[in-house]
Amino acid sequence: MSDYSRIYEELHAFISPLWVVDTHEHTAVYKSDSNPDYLKTMINTYARMDLHSAGMAKEMLAKAMDPSLPLLERWALCEPYWKACRNTGYMRMHERVAQEVYGIREISRDTIEQISVQFASKDARQSYHEGLERAKILCAIVDSDMDCDRRHLRPAFRLEEFVERIEIETVRKTLGVSIHTFIDWLDACDEMINRYCDAGAVAFKTTIATDRSLNIGYGSYAEAEESFIRSLREDNGYLPPSSAYQEFMFRHVLSRVQQRGLPVQMHTGMAAGYGNIIPNGNPLQLCPLFLEYKDMDFVIMHMGYPYQLEIGSLGKMFQNVYPDLSWAYLLSANGAKAALNEWLDSVPATKIMAFGGDCGHENHMYAHLLIAKETVSQVLAQKVAEGCFDLDHAKWMAEQMFLMNPYRVFRLEQAGVSLQKKEE
Ligand SMILES: [Zn+2]
Repeated sequence: MSDYSRIYEELHAFISPLWVVDTHEHTAVYKSDSNPDYLKTMINTYARMDLHSAGMAKEMLAKAMDPSLPLLERWALCEPYWKACRNTGYMRMHERVAQEVYGIREISRDTIEQISVQFASKDARQSYHEGLERAKILCAIVDSDMDCDRRHLRPAFRLEEFVERIEIETVRKTLGVSIHTFIDWLDACDEMINRYCDAGAVAFKTTIATDRSLNIGYGSYAEAEESFIRSLREDNGYLPPSSAYQEFMFRHVLSRVQQRGLPVQMHTGMAAGYGNIIPNGNPLQLCPLFLEYKDMDFVIMHMGYPYQLEIGSLGKMFQNVYPDLSWAYLLSANGAKAALNEWLDSVPATKIMAFGGDCGHENHMYAHLLIAKETVSQVLAQKVAEGCFDLDHAKWMAEQMFLMNPYRVFRLEQAGVSLQKKEE
């Protein structure tokens, strides 16, 4: 056995049973679909982006996700595109689920019915909690689900209705307040943030990069007010606001979130969907904000893909910036591997967050985490074999990156998440 193989085996044996904090998940599938269908659940991940990229039309995707149609007919629609992208992270994750959870080697015309039957035989709610325990997810941070089950989850909140858009009517209804001036609007925004924080949110999550550039300038109060009044007059509340409005509101929100002591999860890099302006999400554009909000922690999500090598420089230079590998191993396992390899030469290990599933279904989270733990073991083993640091230090770093860094940055102790399981 080579030096590398021996070190990998030992590291993987250590990392495999580690409890982790999962930095980013979506609402559990069982909550939105009480009778989930296997093929629909599988496609309705970001896998549909790859299927679409391979040429599958949106109408065909919708048909394949329609549980009222015969399963084999739906699979036949997917099959050529599935084969075309079986090599990508998402399809590999699904195949890993088939292997690990259902004991089936590959997803195909011959196995799809068998997998579907096994999938449907589980009680979805029960299966979710068992899945998180099996994956050893101590706590996952869930995007926009304040109602999440606090046994395993803590929420992050979003504020698109105030920042990216101006949804006056929605806010009036939610808060039960009247809004007639821009001052009312700012008060309502503050009230919303306080409600989320008081209800146990552990982060503010923003996807502003999906609508506009992360080059966030200084919109003035007057410009923001003008955009707001325009929406108020139109009385439909859904006019696209000016860029200056978004910039003013984004800073307003950051300041309030900072007062409440919460970190920010910044979506960076490529956005989900069927086409967007990728450079809008270039995280290097955030430097002015990092300088301005020195006492606020910024978690740079999704390794900023495809800017994963560049964001090491942000983690290195700014005390308040944390490179995060949520979504990463599905976007590109090799990209994640290369990023971590690079970051471990430049970024303090206490700054890196090793895992965020970005899935919503427990089986997907489980398989994604298996892939993450293997990838991190490979990178650390290579570094140890090269003599960069010793095995004990590599183990310590793995625990920081998978568990302790997110536990600390998201203030999970204050949020009532116990580390007791880690000791058992
Ligand atoms: Zn996500």
